Amino acid sequence: MSAKITILGASGSIGESTLDVVGRYPERFRVFALTGHSRIDVLTRQCQRHMPEYVVVGSQAAAVELKAIIDPGIKVLWGEQALVDAASDADVDIVMAAIVGAAGLLPTLAAARAGKRVLLANKEALVMAGRLFMDAVSVSGATLLPIDSEHNAVFQCLPPDYSGLDHKGVSRIILSASGGPFRTTPLASLAQVTPAQACAHPNWSMGQKISVDSATMMNKGLEVIEACWLFNIAPSKVDVVIHPQSIIHSLVSYVDGSILAQLGNPDMRIPIAHALAWPDRMASGVEPLDLVATARLDFESPDEQRFPCLALARQAATSAQDFPVALNAANEVAVAAFLAGRIGFTEIATTVARVLDDWQGSEPGDLLSVQQADKRARDMAMACLEVTAQC
Ligand code: NAD
Ligand code: MG
Repeated sequence: MSAKITILGASGSIGESTLDVVGRYPERFRVFALTGHSRIDVLTRQCQRHMPEYVVVGSQAAAVELKAIIDPGIKVLWGEQALVDAASDADVDIVMAAIVGAAGLLPTLAAARAGKRVLLANKEALVMAGRLFMDAVSVSGATLLPIDSEHNAVFQCLPPDYSGLDHKGVSRIILSASGGPFRTTPLASLAQVTPAQACAHPNWSMGQKISVDSATMMNKGLEVIEACWLFNIAPSKVDVVIHPQSIIHSLVSYVDGSILAQLGNPDMRIPIAHALAWPDRMASGVEPLDLVATARLDFESPDEQRFPCLALARQAATSAQDFPVALNAANEVAVAAFLAGRIGFTEIATTVARVLDDWQGSEPGDLLSVQQADKRARDMAMACLEVTAQC
């Protein structure tokens, strides 16, 4: 019997890569639902190719537009509750969580609560609501598999029955980072870089928000927090190393001095195929790595002056409570303002820093408190941006 899959964020970069892999195995996977916010052209093509039972879009207008074009047998729904339903429908076996940002929290959490096999790309959901999310997974018996290439690499390098810190001889997790497009840009020029330059990642082709996060290295900061939740490890045990070639996707260090790494070409179809097939393996469509052509692997420490967002994320991880919620929300607001041309690149970090400096932390015990903290931090970040715009 084929497994039924919902792809949240199907019209994005991870969504497209997921459909590429799934489409290679029509006997093994059946696309149940696709979701996308607004890219009707992409969703139309995907519906024609994969014939899902239903598709969810972001607005009534988008739903009307899509319904007029696609096969009348495909139901078209819109809005947040429809996303939650697509993620938790009793018929669904696998949910790819690939909506970008806080918008993915509710449906991703719904998939975890419904006991699905959750393929997690939407790291922001885990950063915001790590405790709620991990509790939901353990109560429902959901299977949580990381899609983020670093965490998928760590997952592959851990012992199969690993369950936490110092267990099975694991001493540290080492996340690799490319350093993004501005790794060697003169520091004095960073204030003037454009959104197009920030989105031109040297090794990966990704959505705009994660591309900017990679350029500031906030992405790696979010990934440190993500690793702490996924692998039950303290932030102080998660290292970051810059590896410009993006060939080693991350490493696990053991007490005996061994370090295990996962290598491969930088193509998200590898972690996607791994998580779809786990514990088996299946072809992803990606060529195997040519070690001789790769020739060299370089490593360096991240420069904290160049990448202040990394230190801010560590500060939020260590402060815990709802500091990661504030970090994520302020960053989403600042990145959107940068992409819209309203603030400069270096003001992303200053905006996040101001929000964290003024943040009064508290433990987010339930979803409502996470949502309230998210809203409060967004308001604070927006107030900072008003001040910045007046300067
Ligand atoms: P993307 O911008 O290409 O796609 C985002 C998807 O989310 C789209 O389908 C879009 O329609 C949907 N979306 C956006 N706003 C929405 C909203 N308000 N409500 C509902 N849907 C909405 O992003 P991406 O690069 O595919 O990244 C998706 C997630 O995966 C992010 O959390 C990112 O950090 C993570 N991730 C991506 C990569 C990568 O290589 N692209 C790698 C690792 C992790
Ligand atoms: Mg990553």
